Amino acid sequence: MKMPPFAYGRAASLSELFALWTAAGHEAKILAGGQSLLATLAFRLSEPSALIDITGIEALKGISATRTHLRLGALATHAEIGASDLVARHAPLMAEAVPFIAHPAIRNRGTLGGSLAFADPAAEWPAVMVALDASLTLASASGERVVAAEKFFRGLYDTALKRREIIAAVEVQKQRKTQRTALVEVARRSGDYAMAGLALSLDLDGKGVVSDARPVFFALGDRPVLAKAAAKALIGKPLDPRSVATAQAALERDLDPPADIHGGPAMKLHLARVLLARAAARIAPGVREAA
Ligand SMILES: Cc1cc2nc3c(=O)[nH]c(=O)nc-3n(C[C@H](O)[C@H](O)[C@H](O)COP(=O)(O)OP(=O)(O)OC[C@H]3O[C@@H](n4cnc5c(N)ncnc54)[C@H](O)[C@@H]3O)c2cc1C
Repeated sequence: MKMPPFAYGRAASLSELFALWTAAGHEAKILAGGQSLLATLAFRLSEPSALIDITGIEALKGISATRTHLRLGALATHAEIGASDLVARHAPLMAEAVPFIAHPAIRNRGTLGGSLAFADPAAEWPAVMVALDASLTLASASGERVVAAEKFFRGLYDTALKRREIIAAVEVQKQRKTQRTALVEVARRSGDYAMAGLALSLDLDGKGVVSDARPVFFALGDRPVLAKAAAKALIGKPLDPRSVATAQAALERDLDPPADIHGGPAMKLHLARVLLARAAARIAPGVREAA
């Protein structure tokens, strides 16, 4: 199918973006990497009156570090994140996620902000952001506000973004000495969206006891799901086959996966349990037998 007609504008700054957006009306959409938006246009799932290209806005670019945090501009592409030494050193869970996102051509153009705003429940970045307890800086003509990733995702392709508001940047705390992370997923082919996935962040004290846990599943609900019952089953215990088995059983209380083209709820819950054991085994190799 051919795309519907639309006007096109390119903003060089945030103030220009908000001025163009106001002039173009509420049917206008912003364009980042175009890797999801242009497909929805081609399938006529979306018919915006205008596209406002934000890829020339310097304020939305770059990856930098403070003493405690990593800051990623919304326009950081998946490929830039994968190639960043800062990310590899301070947010290894993000580096680990990149090869799972689509293919190199898409990773070269697709952006972190675009993926988070699109909020596909099977996408990696939303789950990674919740697992890392990231903060999203949202910008509009009236200023900025900060929203926790956990509160940002509201449902299927639904977020806390208000009208004419954008994601400007994301901040994650630098990996703590006690923190261990792993990203695992099951997909039909390399580069496909996941059938089921897990972004796991754990803190282990000096004796190997779990002091905090954020297991966040994707493709198993209408948004990234922080599995709180499973986390509770892990916290306060050593990460071993017994605690993982208890957490696997608790997933029944955390997840209510809808049936999709890949299978029914029981199969998806089974995948979630397998993924939890795999991720735990990545962090503590002795756990493998619990799978
Ligand atoms: C074949 C294929 C396979 C894919 N596989 C995967 C996969 O396995 N995993 C995965 O996670 N993704 C996958 N993707 C999606 C890809 O990661 C996209 O890059 C991403 O979803 C959107 O980023 P974008 O920069 O291209 O956004 P765009 O397509 O430009 O925009 C997407 C939406 O977000 C809005 N938007 C963009 N930037 C912002 C912002 N800063 N603030 C507010 N709103 C914004 C746009 O208005 C639009 O509504 C795949 C895409 C394709 C085409």
